[in-house]
Amino acid sequence: MKKLEVNKELCIGCGACVAIDSNHFDFDEDGLSEVINNEDIESEECLNAMSSCPTNAISYQEEN
Ligand code: SF4
Repeated sequence: MKKLEVNKELCIGCGACVAIDSNHFDFDEDGLSEVINNEDIESEECLNAMSSCPTNAISYQEEN
């Protein structure tokens, strides 16, 4: 199973992913993006959010 992951080392908190796909992304207490939902992670909105991230901080990871 794939899951979404935000690399907090790369995230600059620009908010693009949250604006595009608030179903999957929200800000954490540090103002960085975090994944809030791992359902339907290949939706058009989710793919758009991933490709809109300026630092390529969002990726799919294999869940063990
Ligand atoms: S688009 Fe990328 S850099 Fe911007 S808040 Fe989302 S994960 Fe962080």
